[in-house]
Amino acid sequence: MSDPRAQDVLQRVFGYESFRGDQQAIVDHVIAGGDALVLMPTGGGKSLCYQVPALVRQGTGIVVSPLIALMQDQVDALTELGVRAAFLNSTQDWRVAREVEQAFIDGELDLLYVAPERLLTDRCLQLLERGRIALFAIDEAHCVSQWGHDFRPEYLGLSMLHERWPEVPRIALTATATAATRVEIAQRLALDQAEHFVASFDRPNIRYRIVEKNEVRRQLLDLIRSEHEGDSGVVYCLSRARVEETADFLCQNGISALPYHAGLSTAVRAANQSRFLREDGIVMVATIAFGMGIDKPDVRFVAHIDLPKSVEGYYQETGRAGRDGLPATAWLAYGLQDVVQQRRMIDESQGDEAYRRRLGQQLDAMLGLCETVECRRVRLLAYFGQTITACGNCDVCLEPPQAWDGTVAAQKVLSAVYRLWKERGQRYGAGHIIDILRGKSTDRTRQHGHETLSVFGVGADLSDNAWRGVLRQLLAQGLLTVDNEGFGTLALTEGSRAVLKGERQLMLRRESEKKPRGSKSSTRTRAPVIDLPPEAMPLFNALRNWRGEVAKNHGVPAYVIFHDATLREIALAKPASLEDLGHISGVGVRKLEAYGDDILRLVE
Ligand code: ADP
Ligand code: ZN
Repeated sequence: MSDPRAQDVLQRVFGYESFRGDQQAIVDHVIAGGDALVLMPTGGGKSLCYQVPALVRQGTGIVVSPLIALMQDQVDALTELGVRAAFLNSTQDWRVAREVEQAFIDGELDLLYVAPERLLTDRCLQLLERGRIALFAIDEAHCVSQWGHDFRPEYLGLSMLHERWPEVPRIALTATATAATRVEIAQRLALDQAEHFVASFDRPNIRYRIVEKNEVRRQLLDLIRSEHEGDSGVVYCLSRARVEETADFLCQNGISALPYHAGLSTAVRAANQSRFLREDGIVMVATIAFGMGIDKPDVRFVAHIDLPKSVEGYYQETGRAGRDGLPATAWLAYGLQDVVQQRRMIDESQGDEAYRRRLGQQLDAMLGLCETVECRRVRLLAYFGQTITACGNCDVCLEPPQAWDGTVAAQKVLSAVYRLWKERGQRYGAGHIIDILRGKSTDRTRQHGHETLSVFGVGADLSDNAWRGVLRQLLAQGLLTVDNEGFGTLALTEGSRAVLKGERQLMLRRESEKKPRGSKSSTRTRAPVIDLPPEAMPLFNALRNWRGEVAKNHGVPAYVIFHDATLREIALAKPASLEDLGHISGVGVRKLEAYGDDILRLVE
């Protein structure tokens, strides 16, 4: 039986009509005192899963989160809803911390956010003994996974919560988890009794596209200009240097871009993050240090200009687009050099053999996704053990790539590699091999006598670009490797032999030939995000301006006041009374009280 108190909180406080997906079951389970492990994609609605039970149960919900920089925003958003929320972390003045502690002891808090390292101090544990705890919510629970990309050692200490407060329900939540990670989370957090709630990981409003990289900054600029002018977005890069140069490049081209990486001072990072959240149309160029817990609902695109290291990380990063359910883009540019570089990084990485093997498998899964001729979403969800039919909203579904018989082309590449590999000690990159195949005379081909090789000029029938595609796919499929003992020269693998001997046919993915710059292709039709009849637009714009003013006065991001989706509904429904307005999704009792009259005046 579902708990009527939960439904009441959902409508009264949050202003939503009904729970989504598993939310109801999770909320009921936790209210009844059960432990839960919740896996939901980013934007799936995890917060309500612990916020509602914390409001229904007696006492304070303790939320463990690694995201100190976001606690203020989270607490502000709850305060706007009339929820009594606070946080304890190292950024706080001790006097303020005292007040928060006292409020907790006096039973005056519904939710208290604490960073794990703070929680595990004696002082904090003693404090928790003095108040009443409704539940523990462990957010970003994948941080406990030592194999994961967000590992936080402090998370390992959290299993003690269960020993110290065995009767308090615990709910662990994450947006990223393969079956293996899920088992690891349950083990390390001692969640043996927890019920697992695994939502569908599909995010149908995100359009997935993976393109071949050539001039990547140009390609990125084209994407932004042709499809996302004025939108908020995130661009992920692998290194700090690349973040800086890409942000500069975008700024020079009139895009409001900001950098974010671990090499910047805390103050600069905080300032850039705050601008991204508060201003419209900022493009954040970042390493993967950016993004966890950022719940900005209207990020319209996430672009990767370097190959991510794992599908798990990639899916989490792209999930930051389109949390509001409106159309969004996930775009990845990837090329031969990415494969070479990542294989080399794995070989040179610290760590034992098993660790490197694991990295290699993660890279292979990512490459498989890039090179697939199947629906991208089918591949992505299969990685999380979920099955769907072709999605109709990815590049493969929209413009199916062609497969071609690349056996002979592959043989040409492999024989050239074999010939050059004999001269180990020289470092011949992919470019040199392609020059040889195409019969292009250069200083290097002349100096090293490579023009007399039998393979010189055997590949004049394919373009540079097409050859890069062949090499890249051979590397991706492990039919070619980077030999580090030979100073990074390309080398054959076990699998190469069968191809060379003609025992194995090789189907490759056809690269589309480079489109002239600025050309419009068929996928470039942009779905209008705020799709409103023209007569509703003036009211929508007036509401947005009003929201901007209020947000500025309160010092919070605009979406904390109301989401675009709520303003859109108001502009359509034109409510004439407070009662009508209260039925709009996202308008709870507190916001109705605070802003109802203002809005009705605007509607009139
Ligand atoms: P997550 O933490 O899983 O990434 P959030 O908790 O931030 O997701 O929720 C994503 C968005 O969906 C938020 O804007 C939230 O207000 C909205 N949302 C969540 N649950 C509901 C619901 N039952 N009805 C309407 N909107 C919801
Ligand atoms: Zn698809």
